[in-house]
Amino acid sequence: MRLLLNFFMSKNPEQHFFDIAVIGGGATGMMAAFWASQKGARVVLIEKNERLGRKVSMTGKGRCNITQENFTKETLVNALGRKGRFLFSALHKFDVKKTKDFFEKSGIKLKTERGGRVFPQSDSAEEIIDTFRKMLTKNGVVLMRKSKIKSFEIKDSKIEKIITRKTEVIARQYIICTGGKSYPITGSTGDGYQWAKKFGHRIITPTPALTPIKTINDWATELQGVSLRNVRLSVFQNNKKQTDRFGEMLFTHFGISGPIVLDVSYEIGKLLKKDRVKISIDLKPALEFKELDQRIQKDFEKYHNRKFINALDDLLPQKMIPTIVKISKIDPDKKTNEISKEDRKKLTALLKDLVLNVDELVGFKNAIVTKGGINLREINPNTMQSRKIDNLYFAGEILDLNGPTGGYNLQICWTTGYVAGISASQNSL
Ligand SMILES: Cc1cc2nc3c(=O)[nH]c(=O)nc-3n(C[C@H](O)[C@H](O)[C@H](O)COP(=O)(O)OP(=O)(O)OC[C@H]3O[C@@H](n4cnc5c(N)ncnc54)[C@H](O)[C@@H]3O)c2cc1C
Repeated sequence: MRLLLNFFMSKNPEQHFFDIAVIGGGATGMMAAFWASQKGARVVLIEKNERLGRKVSMTGKGRCNITQENFTKETLVNALGRKGRFLFSALHKFDVKKTKDFFEKSGIKLKTERGGRVFPQSDSAEEIIDTFRKMLTKNGVVLMRKSKIKSFEIKDSKIEKIITRKTEVIARQYIICTGGKSYPITGSTGDGYQWAKKFGHRIITPTPALTPIKTINDWATELQGVSLRNVRLSVFQNNKKQTDRFGEMLFTHFGISGPIVLDVSYEIGKLLKKDRVKISIDLKPALEFKELDQRIQKDFEKYHNRKFINALDDLLPQKMIPTIVKISKIDPDKKTNEISKEDRKKLTALLKDLVLNVDELVGFKNAIVTKGGINLREINPNTMQSRKIDNLYFAGEILDLNGPTGGYNLQICWTTGYVAGISASQNSL
């Protein structure tokens, strides 16, 4: 009898009924599920990982740069190009101010740092995830973790059900928030694109964006962990300057990363298709060549009895000094008062133009976001509803939207997640 029952059950998986099924428990999915449940809908949040918000926990180096103070309609169009206009209506409903109010009302105190970057005061991305988890549980959202969607059943331009390994989920409305393809270790493996294609959506080819850069120079890896502030990074191809950025960067075990590196990575990717690319770092952009030379001269006078290697403490981060000395080819043991004018000028030139040769971009494996995704023309910008399938919504990084570093990308998730959650709840009750 038991065998027969087991056989019957395996043939007929358990069915669960909800108003709304949200697929993907990242930043967007948590936001969408919260707002849909807040408006009274019975919501299930389906996530293939054991825990929610795996990528959120890594954001802002574990501190979560949740939004960008200067994220307005105007900056949006500057940062995202024409695609930014897609967000106008959604931002009207849930902008940066509303996002900050939402987090503060949820009990998360916020602070704004340089460049308009907003973080939780606790400096902890885990606080964001914990808060969502508690609010979702309080609202009765059913969390189906370790649940990977196998397929969807569609009838008459409507999704009928979702099939996972063990269950079938039947909902009135479905919100897909499965993210892009970047940092696949977090669960973002592009599954949503495959489903969307089957639903008749066009996918703008996903490419890695905001990626660290592998460099050829051996000395760069010696500097692993060195972080530089207020430097200017310029990109060159065939001796012609292509673009530049001012701000923060850091050296890694394979090359360089950090905000200004990530921000130029997309342009570098395009340039690499044509020819080799060089990066020049101006370590002292506030000083003209002559001013810097005078400054070095002063330092050398101040430390006239020191060896060259011990005379750069006021100029460079400690960990960087041996590498700079090595590249300068000036004898590290030479006393500063023995260094020739010519050598000093060579050092000045090096600090103004530290050259790195680009090998390649690191690709999806370490990319911060995915460029490309669901074609925005097939999504209603007021609701995030699909124009192909009646009871389907897309939100977050899965859409063909991505911004620069500084909190833009999470704001896109909060805004589109909110709108999808609210719209789906209105259509489900
Ligand atoms: C290292 C790093 C640092 C970053 N820092 C910042 C920052 O400080 N500020 C900022 O604004 N942005 C930052 N970003 C970008 C930002 O984190 C992302 O844009 C954002 O998290 C995307 O959220 P999402 O919910 O749309 O997608 P994702 O976070 O990719 O979430 C998608 C979820 O769907 C689940 N899923 C996928 N397929 C299935 C399936 N078949 N069945 C069930 N579940 C599935 C995944 O497991 C995942 O949990 C950072 C990104 C990285 C990688």
